[in-house]
Amino acid sequence: MITAATTLAAVIGHPVRHSLSPVLHHAGFASLDVDWAYVAFDVAPGDADQALQAMACLSIGGLSVTMPHKTQVADCVGRLDPAAAALRSANTVSRDPDGTLVGHSTDGDGLVGALATEGISVAGAACCVIGAGGAGRSIIDALARHGAGGIAVINRDRQRAVQAASLAPGLATVAESSSEAIGNATLVINATSVGMAGTDVDRLPLDPADLHRGQTVVDIVYQPRQTALLRAAKVAGARPIDGLGMLVHQAALQQQLWIGVLPDVVAMRAAAEVELARRANNTAG
Ligand code: NAP
Repeated sequence: MITAATTLAAVIGHPVRHSLSPVLHHAGFASLDVDWAYVAFDVAPGDADQALQAMACLSIGGLSVTMPHKTQVADCVGRLDPAAAALRSANTVSRDPDGTLVGHSTDGDGLVGALATEGISVAGAACCVIGAGGAGRSIIDALARHGAGGIAVINRDRQRAVQAASLAPGLATVAESSSEAIGNATLVINATSVGMAGTDVDRLPLDPADLHRGQTVVDIVYQPRQTALLRAAKVAGARPIDGLGMLVHQAALQQQLWIGVLPDVVAMRAAAEVELARRANNTAG
């Protein structure tokens, strides 16, 4: 029950109506038995500064930030943690005890956490990241901080690939040959939006002939759950990992930043799966 003592958290984005964040965060709050509630605010592009002012004024306990506000939020908060400062992008805002708003980036660490629950360590791994947008850059930064052995970066826009690789100097390089980079990797991560619902869902971000047994293939796209890439990975004998784990873990890390304790990721994932199944049924019906 929401009372006058309830602390509010929210996601800001545009559009935000189909965000899974409220479902994930309510499951997390319930697992911690804390008096927090979570809503979604549709904030027009360019208005994230006003949302931050409202956060301070209304004593909102935490904000999740999604497209298109991550860069503007990074520019407007009082302080950035090292990952958000490196990326110049924030997907989370917390409040210091003195009221200072602090920007964080939990996407990349969310992926590393999700892989750890699957028993996969990125330490020493030969990685290939396809995509150099906000998520791709966050993943490259996190892979480097968690001891990846090497990171080959592939992106449609090569200049963006160069910028993304510069986040991990000496470790990340722009791939000269996509086939070679994918074939040599033990961990292949699609961080593009290729295959996402609402686009051509049968499109692949790579040549499936480059995939093989012994690899782990992660698609951070989570709608649809079973992407064309994950199906291709399975056919090739590689281990497919969907993007829901990353989504759950980046949200759990947000709650840790706001409340100081990590919520139950299993409960959060279960709640997200129920909601995704409900949506799939509604679409089918
Ligand atoms: P973004 O900043 O807009 O970057 C989009 C990336 O996709 C860029 O690398 C872009 O390449 C590439 N791309 C887009 N269309 C393409 C196409 N037709 N062919 C080849 N490459 C294409 O978006 P983002 O925030 O990084 O998000 C990327 C995807 O990750 C989205 O589907 C998002 O839903 C998902 N995501 C998942 C999680 C999770 O927790 N599972 C978290 C964050 C994001 P160019 O640079 O060449 O344009």
